[in-house]
Amino acid sequence: MSACLFCKIASGEIPAEVLHHDDDVVAFRDITPRAPVHFLVVPRRHVRSLGEAADTDAALLGKLLLAVRDLAVRQGIDAGGYRVVTNRGADAGQSVDHLHFHVLGGRALAWPPG
Ligand code: AMP
Repeated sequence: MSACLFCKIASGEIPAEVLHHDDDVVAFRDITPRAPVHFLVVPRRHVRSLGEAADTDAALLGKLLLAVRDLAVRQGIDAGGYRVVTNRGADAGQSVDHLHFHVLGGRALAWPPG
């Protein structure tokens, strides 16, 4: 059994507010939202971060971003705009070692991030 938090959420072993799931992609609300709408889009399969994605993961990466696109519409943040972020490694502050795209919206977001 995987020890990875997001693998456990993807398998349903740990509860989360799931917004979407299919064979390859799971999306759920961030437990500590940084914006009125803040959810995470992750591959069901364990990939440590974008840095560990393989060339053969091209279709999976595309599916993740298309899920972001569709969920942003469904969550009502497409018209106003939203931000997609993935943190890879220590300098970026990655705290969960399973690839995830943060999607943030519902307010004006400052730039650049800290
Ligand atoms: P990062 O720091 O980029 O690795 O992002 C990890 C994100 O996972 C943070 O925004 C956390 O709030 C979020 N998080 C941690 N545990 C959970 C959980 N059980 N359910 C939903 N989101 C979580």
